Parts: sequence; C-alpha cells; structure tokens
Amino acid sequence: SPVVGVLALQGDVREHLVALATADAVARPVRRPEELAEVDGIVLPGGESTTISKLAVLFGLMEPLRARVREGMPVYGTCAGMILLADKILDPRSGQETVGGIDMIVRRNAFGRQNESFEAAVDVRGVEGDPVEGVFIRAPWVESVGARAEVLAEYDGHIVAVRQENALATSFHPELTGDHRMHALFVDMVRAKLMAGSL
Ligand code: GLN
Repeated sequence: SPVVGVLALQGDVREHLVALATADAVARPVRRPEELAEVDGIVLPGGESTTISKLAVLFGLMEPLRARVREGMPVYGTCAGMILLADKILDPRSGQETVGGIDMIVRRNAFGRQNESFEAAVDVRGVEGDPVEGVFIRAPWVESVGARAEVLAEYDGHIVAVRQENALATSFHPELTGDHRMHALFVDMVRAKLMAGSL
C-alpha cells in the first residue's frame, strides 16, 4: 500500500489519518524532513493556514515540501491545506507563505461571517455516485485558476475543488465525514504515481 503522510503541525491531523487508512493507505504523521522523505504523498490538513505556514518554516519543512511537490509528489490540501497549495493568496496575513503547486488565487474565509460553517452537497468530478457531503468551516474559495488547473467542483457559483496534475485541493473537509471517496481519489493518485515511477 502507498505510504501517505499528513502534515502534523496543526489542524485536524487525526481525522485525515483515519480517512487515509480507510482508503487503504499506510497513513503517517509528518513533522520532520526525514519523515517527509519517506512518504509517497502527503495531505495538508484543515486548521489555520497562517499558523501551519509559520510552523512549516520553523520546522524546516517548507523548502522540502516545495521541492517534493515540484518534483511531482501527490499532495491533497483541505481548507487551510487548499490555501497552502495556492500559488497566490488574495489576502495573505503577514508572514504567510504558501507551498504552492496549483496555479490559482484563493480568498481566505471567503464564505463570510454569517455563514462561517455549513454543510452542502457538492458534485465532484471524478467521484462516482452521490454528491460529496461538503463540510465548510471558515472555508476559502478559489477566485480564479490558471490554464493548467482543472476545476472539479463549484458551490454557489464559487470554485471549491481543483486539481492540477499531482495536486488536489478542496475548500471543504471530507475527513470530517464518514465518506472517504475524496481520500480514495487521492490515494489512487498516489498509486498511479508510484506505478509510473516503477515502469
Ligand atoms: N480560515 C482558515 C485559514 O485561513 C481555514 C479554516 C479551515 O481549515 N477550516 O487558514
């Protein structure tokens, strides 16, 4: 089985580890560069993107993460993790860097104060069957994507799921539901990458 890490600096790490294990990956927390070197793919969890970004710099993980994503390591970001995968943040806090990897501009906390958290059915391209139960918590949306990024889902007229080659991002949190099809999709991306590498 592919070994999939979860960046474990802050955020909902445990829920992703469970979801990945359910999707038949060997799931491991990643806090150190040596641990990053051992995984075939990684999840960037939900949480607080500024905090995660600062801790990643502090723990010496930011550059190695960028390098591996550039080299094609599969990566999946949910919510704060989506923000971390954006090449550009519309309204960054000071000191907020991103890993990048998806040619998109994200707006943080985009769904607004009155509606800080909600659930909605989201149709995601590439996920068979019923819509995905989208849990949105102070969620970002994607303002715009570049030519290489593929929009996988929209909600209420806003882009909420994107894929660009090895990188997948959702505004919502599938790890907080019992439905792990998004994680299964990601683990398939990791498996495909491993197969391509062994040819
Ligand atoms: N609003 C948070 C941020 O900007 C993301 C919230 C989440 O991950 N649920 O990082």
